[in-house]
Amino acid sequence: MKFNIPFQNKYFNIDKDLRYQLIRPYWTIGAKSIIFSVVSSSLEVVGTALVLPLLEILGENHVSLNPQNSDLLDKLSAFYFHLAENKRLPAILLTLALITIIKNYAVFLSRINENAFFLGAGNLLRKKCIVRFLEMGLPSYTKMNTGELLGYTNEQSQRTESFFKFSIEIIKEIIAITFLLSFLIFLAPTLTLVAIVSLSTIAFFIQIIINKVNLHGQKTTVAIEKFSTLVNEIISGIRVIKSFNAETRTLKNAENALNSRYKAEFTAYKSWSAVGPLTETLGILVLILILFGGTILIGASSNSRTNLPILLTFTLTLLRTIPRVNQLNNLRGEISLFRGSFEVIRKFLMSTESCELKDGVILFTGLKNKIEFKNIFFTYPSNLEPTLKNVNLSILKGSTTAIVGASGCGKSTLLDLLMRFYDPELGSIQIDGINLKNFNIGSWRSNIAMVSQDTFLFNCSIRDNIAYGKINATDDDIINATQRAYAYDFIQEMPDGINTIVGNRGTKLSGGQRQRIAIARAILNDPDILILDEATSALDSNSERMVQKAIDEISTKRTVIVIAHRLSTIEKADNIIVLKDGMVAEKGTQGELLALQGLYHKSYKAQNFSTLK
Ligand code: ADP
Repeated sequence: MKFNIPFQNKYFNIDKDLRYQLIRPYWTIGAKSIIFSVVSSSLEVVGTALVLPLLEILGENHVSLNPQNSDLLDKLSAFYFHLAENKRLPAILLTLALITIIKNYAVFLSRINENAFFLGAGNLLRKKCIVRFLEMGLPSYTKMNTGELLGYTNEQSQRTESFFKFSIEIIKEIIAITFLLSFLIFLAPTLTLVAIVSLSTIAFFIQIIINKVNLHGQKTTVAIEKFSTLVNEIISGIRVIKSFNAETRTLKNAENALNSRYKAEFTAYKSWSAVGPLTETLGILVLILILFGGTILIGASSNSRTNLPILLTFTLTLLRTIPRVNQLNNLRGEISLFRGSFEVIRKFLMSTESCELKDGVILFTGLKNKIEFKNIFFTYPSNLEPTLKNVNLSILKGSTTAIVGASGCGKSTLLDLLMRFYDPELGSIQIDGINLKNFNIGSWRSNIAMVSQDTFLFNCSIRDNIAYGKINATDDDIINATQRAYAYDFIQEMPDGINTIVGNRGTKLSGGQRQRIAIARAILNDPDILILDEATSALDSNSERMVQKAIDEISTKRTVIVIAHRLSTIEKADNIIVLKDGMVAEKGTQGELLALQGLYHKSYKAQNFSTLK
């Protein structure tokens, strides 16, 4: 009994909020970043508060400040004034140095944790996308383009990472501002109130700009998607582009895509650029207003000498607060730039949430009797017309069935349904009387091998390509498979033999060699059912003979279904199915079909099955 463990994943759980899912594994790291930020912010306030005794020591003038709520400050100053006079300045400077060191160490730890947090969440997001790519049924793939899918794991994920980075930075800024504001309130509640009202008004106006950034950020995301689609098309379609001399036209398209990305991104950045200078200008105006108000208050105070250090400390703290408010506004702008990407990936994960192909529970252990297609109808999601219409046929165990028909009549689609890449719209495929949908997909597919004319090879060694479906195969098994696939000799001639890397998509090998590797791969898997897609393009005669020998070798004692183009293959078949426009036009043995004097007979006489009409 052979079957793969069905693809399972624990990242597939999208019903909860995606953001929560991404953050959950890293929340302790995120929390550490915030805790260290609390430490650094509180030390920043303590450091600022120390300026007060410092000013007094420099002015050699300790007075009891005694304004409202300033007991603590009073005590702080008194602590240093209790020391011998020559020790006061070194003591306070030493404290300041220590605080600076500890504070910055906390900033360092906070940043490290912040990076670990957003990089971790970003990687998890990429992993989720990959899991979805692997889980998604082929129907979803036909609806999407590769560039878009690549974009999710590359640029869009990177931008989403920035979104997480800025989210945590916003929390940290809010904490720092809260600490600084609390200290300001402690020093001078009325002045702080004026500051808060003014700064909130600024934040409100900045929001209008941020909304604009948000809008153009979304446009940028769409433009990025378009561009990555185009890049993918250039790379995959380079042969077509070159053979049609379409380089200039392609460049023009790329330029258009880049221009619209530039426009959207530049407009977003243009608005975003205004945020920083605007908040700083308005912030300084607020500061001037407060200083003005402060001096008036001091003037009105009975003890202006006492209140002066407080005003200076207040101003210093406010000077530290305003850049942080600026930074907070900047971050709000930046997060708007990147939120679009997070939304795009979220939508992709949500929209592909329902796994189209529901897995069955019965483990397939081998064909006992026959495969039957019963009243099959199938329409591709992007098409209106059905590709397969009322297909009925049966395939007996151990027989060879040839499917013939003109290009586009639905041969590959029929076999894709058999592989369970898609499910029929109507009707069913019965395996020994049981609906294919009831079988565990992994166990079913591990008993089928598909050798198609465009064999996909991975960019790894020949050995790993052959052992792709059976990774624990021994070298002896692999060598045996290569011999049976008539691939042994040419592999031996390669520079590193079986360990030769085949290049991107196997480009270092000829078409015939690639096919024999695919056959060796199938032989190693020892499938119960073999699906062959016979090459339409001619191989050179030697290569052709070798491929044919390899096919004969793998076909013995198996149930074989072959998309056939050559008369020799068709003649050998036990059963021939003639497909026309997605319907079974004729079926039977060669003798029966010839006797019918129909479509098959016509093609047979013309010796051409590729244009069966
Ligand atoms: P054949 O193998 O006989 O050449 P196919 O099964 O590949 O034919 O295709 C049958 C029809 O289905 C064709 O008209 C083709 O355009 C259409 N078709 C094939 N694949 C897709 C797809 N992924 N999305 C939409 N239409 C498709």
